[in-house]
Amino acid sequence: PEPLFSAIPMAPRDPILGITESFNADQNPEKINLGVGVYYDDNGKVPLLKCVQQAETMMLEKAAPHTYLPIDGLPAFNTAVQKMVFGEGCRGFDEKRIMTVQALGGTGALRIGADFISRFSASSHIWISNPSWENHRALFEADGFTVHTYPYYDGETRSINFNGMIAELKSMPSGSTVLLHACCHNPTGLDLSDGQWDEVIAVISERSLIPFLDMAYQGFAQSLEADGRIIRRFADNCPYLLVSNSYSKSFSLYGERIGAFSFVARSADEATRALSQVKRVIRTNYSNPSRHGAEIVTTVLSSPELYTMWDNELSDMRSRIRQMREKLAQDLSALREDLDFSYIITQNGLFSYSGLNKKQVEQLRDEHSIYAVDTGRICVAALNSGNIGRVVKAIAQVL
Ligand code: PLP
Repeated sequence: PEPLFSAIPMAPRDPILGITESFNADQNPEKINLGVGVYYDDNGKVPLLKCVQQAETMMLEKAAPHTYLPIDGLPAFNTAVQKMVFGEGCRGFDEKRIMTVQALGGTGALRIGADFISRFSASSHIWISNPSWENHRALFEADGFTVHTYPYYDGETRSINFNGMIAELKSMPSGSTVLLHACCHNPTGLDLSDGQWDEVIAVISERSLIPFLDMAYQGFAQSLEADGRIIRRFADNCPYLLVSNSYSKSFSLYGERIGAFSFVARSADEATRALSQVKRVIRTNYSNPSRHGAEIVTTVLSSPELYTMWDNELSDMRSRIRQMREKLAQDLSALREDLDFSYIITQNGLFSYSGLNKKQVEQLRDEHSIYAVDTGRICVAALNSGNIGRVVKAIAQVL
């Protein structure tokens, strides 16, 4: 027989990690990486939040042994997350129709959801936005889904192609899954308005589609509470709902791999049976999740003092990004009066679809040592008072 690995082709390079490699190899001391998907503070560093540091100190003082967690994770974590994601008093809580399991970051949550519905959904078709986070397609294809896209970004108007999106939703066969970004759409930064969400919810429930909400950036658009409200609206209006959420960004806990997968069923009985299957998915993948990140998040969410501290720190991150957006738009407008940059301000979250094309992105890299994703996505959270001047001049030149 053929030797096991001899015919294996090389997998395509991850586009974002490829940027980091080129960035690391660049000798220019003034190089700037806007291709990342991470929040940096004004000193260009990934922050260690004070609430996290305090929680870790408290955990260290307890000196607890490192026992296994249950398959579905730390129970106190799951309860606290559920309240945060669905909002206290959500109808499904009392009716015991909502279940939450700890997951390995947002990606792990999507993976549990994908594995779970691939086993039990009558349809193996899923729709993601065009464009979307680049891992969505690969992740669902790996579970045997046929991945389709619905229109989302209109490059001409630099806004959402809402009519196109609704028309596509109306054409989907019932039982199909629709993946939606709860807030801070990655990569465009463009979110639906309240009224537009109403229409989307109406079509989804009319056509019996299964909504899967991916919330990787709760707290980065308006506030924790306001950003989470969309989850509650779906939960109150659709019989079924799947939700993945991540604490990588909001707690700056990237490497702890902490997030959660939740679902809403029509009855407590359905929810209990579904949970038993979700646990099988976890058990056969990694048995049970890791402890440290869950304990940090639970310690913060269950202490009023640490929670307030977190809310303030998150709000500082959000405000800093907003300031960078405003400065970017203002300073670019000053240099290029012929162009309109107001779209930068209306976007939410870490990213901006800057309108740069592939050639301009290459020029930024080759002539200025400034790195962005080929699609023109830049990470606004990687801008700071020290580098924004150089970025503005370079972008104004290549545009
Ligand atoms: N979903 C979206 C839309 C994202 O942008 C990201 C991260 O960039 C994730 C999921 C994955 O989050 P995590 O790093 O927690 O796995």
